[in-house]
Amino acid sequence: MKKFNHFLEWPVSVYLVMRQYLIRVIFATKQTILRMLNVVLFGPPGAGKGTQSEILLQRYGLVHLSTGDIFRYNIKNATELGQQAKAFMDKGELVPDSLTISMLESEVVKHQEPKGFIFDGFPRTSAQAEALDRFLNGRNTSITCMLALEVDEEELIKRLLNRASTSGRADDSDESIVRNRITVYNRETAPVASYYEVCGKYRGVKGVGTVEEITARLCAELDAFVQ
Ligand code: AMP
Repeated sequence: MKKFNHFLEWPVSVYLVMRQYLIRVIFATKQTILRMLNVVLFGPPGAGKGTQSEILLQRYGLVHLSTGDIFRYNIKNATELGQQAKAFMDKGELVPDSLTISMLESEVVKHQEPKGFIFDGFPRTSAQAEALDRFLNGRNTSITCMLALEVDEEELIKRLLNRASTSGRADDSDESIVRNRITVYNRETAPVASYYEVCGKYRGVKGVGTVEEITARLCAELDAFVQ
């Protein structure tokens, strides 16, 4: 009889140890998910994503990842990625998903235990949004919210052509390229908003007014997600 009892005790203790282990894993995962603040700052070219990202990253202690900036850095340094991207950027077209997604992922992993990220200019296609979700889930985190700056088209064109004198960007100075970037945005990027809308993570924010006014609107939305 004693032998029989011992036989029964073994699976019970394995079960208890496994249960304890699973509780710890679930708790640790939940902690990680809660700890990171991952924001997609969304909007058409010229909406003010770069300007606002710089302010938000300081206020919330986040890492700013701008795919446009990373491509331009690669072009400046004549890397292979830069050469591949340039042909598309010069025309105001999107760089192919395969190149963009792998570049973004390799940038994310460079940061050890960040508080979170501001993704500026990414994702720009549904495939990029899905890839980002899979990638973050694999790292026990997720997108907190998408904040979308809303600005009408003629205002965008005016801003981009004005910006050309200071940005020195070829894709800002030619009106036909500027218009193509907006057309590409409407066709391929705007639909990405509904990807976040269905899971309640999308917030539209009026992108006109002073920089401070727009920041205040963004922070109000973001703070509601943080609490
Ligand atoms: P931006 O600085 O965000 O205006 O981006 C400048 C250009 O870089 C875009 O017009 C695209 O050619 C390219 N680019 C930036 N981000 C992406 C992205 N997520 N997917 C594809 N192309 C991108």
